[in-house]
Amino acid sequence: MSIAPESPKSTKSVPDQNGRFGKFGGRFVPETLTQALEQLSDEYERAKQDKSFQQELSDLLKSFVGRPSPLYHAKRLTAAAGGAQIWLKREDLNHTGAHKINNTVGQALLTLRMGKTRVIAETGAGQHGVATATACAHFGLPCVVYMGAEDIRRQKPNVFSMKLMGAEIRPVESGSKTLRDAVNEAMRDWMASVEDTHYIIGSVIGPHPFPMMVRDFQSIIGREARSQCLEIFEKLPDCVVACVGGGSNAAGMFFPFVDDDGVRLVGVEAGGRGASPGDHASPLSFGRPGVLHGSYSYVMQDADGQTCDVHSMSAGLDYPGVGPEHSYWKDSGRVDYVDCGDDAAMQAFDRLARTEGIIAALETSHAIAKALEIAGTMSPDQHLLVCLSGRGDKDAMEIARLRGENW
Ligand SMILES: *Cc1c(COP(=O)(O)O)cnc(C)c1O
Repeated sequence: MSIAPESPKSTKSVPDQNGRFGKFGGRFVPETLTQALEQLSDEYERAKQDKSFQQELSDLLKSFVGRPSPLYHAKRLTAAAGGAQIWLKREDLNHTGAHKINNTVGQALLTLRMGKTRVIAETGAGQHGVATATACAHFGLPCVVYMGAEDIRRQKPNVFSMKLMGAEIRPVESGSKTLRDAVNEAMRDWMASVEDTHYIIGSVIGPHPFPMMVRDFQSIIGREARSQCLEIFEKLPDCVVACVGGGSNAAGMFFPFVDDDGVRLVGVEAGGRGASPGDHASPLSFGRPGVLHGSYSYVMQDADGQTCDVHSMSAGLDYPGVGPEHSYWKDSGRVDYVDCGDDAAMQAFDRLARTEGIIAALETSHAIAKALEIAGTMSPDQHLLVCLSGRGDKDAMEIARLRGENW
């Protein structure tokens, strides 16, 4: 196993000029958006080369977001699993309580560089909405957030936070009233407003360059984790686990380890209530390649190619598509994708709270559940890393409702 401080530059994963990860990805959009996506690609490439942009971003990540996030040895969780040492990458300790802000501060900076004066976003669990509203408040940019009516119900605390920071919330009543419908509405807004508006997409989905750019902004997670491992236990981890909704915390966690052949990478999708269509949100396990929201990737679809309704108790994983790079990693065999149901995630949520005093997001609890299972099959001298993508305060009321508790 290589223990170079920086993983060698991956040639396997960088998308080609057309934003293709193998056959996945690309840019399937109406002509109105092509120019804006070109402008974004160009500006992003320039920003990457620009030392002052990199400096401003890294200052913000430090002073505003609170990075680096700690790598924490979960000793009582390790004992409960009875195998590998479990370490948690604490993205829940970032400002606003999840990994989403790593991406929104980067894209807000790009918005200013492009001379755009308005920001829109979609949100599922509300974490991306809050992270976008936060970055916009920081820079004084007006912000509109599209959110499914069902998700507004499930994630009230986040809706209130967004409003406190001056964002306008537009409830989406179409379709299943969840994340997928919110993305549709945000895209519709963008088609009409692209001249002065930047659409801050919250995951590694959408047309090129979003999947690559969001992955790059989120890769701070894996870069930090990789060097923390080398520093703390002087070797790379044996296994890295992350939950997959659109796939941004997983992509950010995995990407810096992709060329480390000895590191097993496991992505955990939402298994919901079971394996029947409509009962889960696991396109990598049960879907077929197709186009959704501007890119070619695994999608949950019916025989006619219509996007299916999906289900997860966690709003942030309740999405029928997934980032194209994950589809590429699945087909190439580099990452294993598994799914975890609502009940198992809920049990892991309780177990983490009681053994470690950490209330994780329901999304994250899917990764914890699989991590416990996998760690149990490994030996105590091995290390398993979990991306603790976010904290669970936002979920407390919904969990009480699911359990029939009143407060
Ligand atoms: C949004 C969210 C997710 C799912 O989104 P990804 O793009 O797959 O990371 C997972 N965990 C938390 C805490 C989230 O807020």
